[in-house]
Amino acid sequence: MALEKVDTVVVGAGQAGIAASEHLSKNGTEHVVIERSRIAERWRTARWDSLVANGPAWHDRFPNLEFEGADPDSFVHKDAVADYFAAYAETFDAPIRCGVEVLSVERKDHQRGFLVRTDKGEIEASNVIVATGPFQHPAIPPIIEETAGLLQMHSSDYRNPDKLPAGNIMVVGAGSSGVQIADEIARSGRKVYLSVGPHDRPPRAYRGRDFVWWLGVLGKWNLQAQAPGTEHVTIAVSGARNGETIDFRNLANLGMTLVGRTESYDNGTLHFAHDLAENIARGDENYLSLLDEADAYVERNGLDLPEEPEARTFGANPDCIENPIFELNLKEAGITTVIWATGFRSDYSWLKLDIFDERGQPRHQRGVSGEPGIYFLGLPWLSGRGSSFIWGVWHDAKYVADHILIQQKYLEYKSKPERLQAVAE
Ligand SMILES: Cc1cc2nc3c(=O)[nH]c(=O)nc-3n(C[C@H](O)[C@H](O)[C@H](O)COP(=O)(O)OP(=O)(O)OC[C@H]3O[C@@H](n4cnc5c(N)ncnc54)[C@H](O)[C@@H]3O)c2cc1C
Repeated sequence: MALEKVDTVVVGAGQAGIAASEHLSKNGTEHVVIERSRIAERWRTARWDSLVANGPAWHDRFPNLEFEGADPDSFVHKDAVADYFAAYAETFDAPIRCGVEVLSVERKDHQRGFLVRTDKGEIEASNVIVATGPFQHPAIPPIIEETAGLLQMHSSDYRNPDKLPAGNIMVVGAGSSGVQIADEIARSGRKVYLSVGPHDRPPRAYRGRDFVWWLGVLGKWNLQAQAPGTEHVTIAVSGARNGETIDFRNLANLGMTLVGRTESYDNGTLHFAHDLAENIARGDENYLSLLDEADAYVERNGLDLPEEPEARTFGANPDCIENPIFELNLKEAGITTVIWATGFRSDYSWLKLDIFDERGQPRHQRGVSGEPGIYFLGLPWLSGRGSSFIWGVWHDAKYVADHILIQQKYLEYKSKPERLQAVAE
């Protein structure tokens, strides 16, 4: 069988792969997108049933297509997000091959380009764009042994409260996934314990504008690097029930017991850091600092946005914050399930290339790796804060596609003798 040759192979047809395909198509770069399952599969099947986008429809989309039939200020359901990307790919007839898995990519010897091995054959490519997602494999810290007699699941395996066994629930992690899952389970009438680490919690909206708007006008989506020391700070936002500010006091008022960061487990007992009140206070500071910056922006630019002084008033701290528990015997507390909303890890073992740092993360600049021809898209902070989000990856993809085109032009260059020889032939 003849070896297939394509200029550029894009691995993954989530939003990152589709954005890459659009820009490559615009540049006239021959390419194929290889997807092991379906377009936007992770939006379809790797999230819980009720998930809606964390950002409003006017914002969490690509520039050239709106969500048909959705109120721009609404938060669309995850299935509509997946349908959106499938429809988007059709608008420019993206060359996507579904049901094909890339097994390895290696550099060819003594010549430019790569051999891409898939479960359906081999492809030779000058460039490979890795768009396999910012959130690839569930990461569960090794705290509770598997034999502890509990159901332990990652947030990506949670679907809805009815699918959980009877009993109380411990949710570890208070980023967007953890707070939304804990909230949903508590509202279903179950007793929930939520382990809260360091977090940011922006207001859902302030002075009539969603926080995504504030991050935009304040230049925060374009921040190029996380502030030192904030690498483990998660962000607690939600589009559920048409978007509400996450306030941990409100979660406690639903009957949830908040605890500090989960540290260790022995003899059936979980131990928590003594940091709950501090984490809540820091989250409040983060919330208030955005309000301050927003007010200053309104003032400086003479905007006519309604004042909202009540946004600065918090309710009293509930007892679980004032008198926190530092350990919990899971059996005595009736806990049968622990849901780890503790993030994801990546796996690039299939990329047989020397482009990774000591933590296994790709070395790159705005997605351009140290190995000419290998690119990354969709990674958190690839070019800035927006890079792993829907609208941000579209702009990163343009940069990467343009980089490929520019390199192609360099390689096409011929000196005068070469040009003359080409004419003579
Ligand atoms: C719970 C949750 C909620 C989120 N909500 C929002 C939100 O509201 N707004 C927002 O902007 N962002 C949100 N995000 C962040 C981000 O938009 C999503 O994670 C999004 O799925 C990332 O898109 P992607 O294309 O980079 O990666 P993915 O969607 O993960 O796509 C990667 C694709 O690559 C395929 N693939 C992987 N390996 C291979 C291989 N070897 N061969 C072939 N194919 C392969 C996978 O099947 C997959 O389809 C959310 C993330 C999570 C976890």
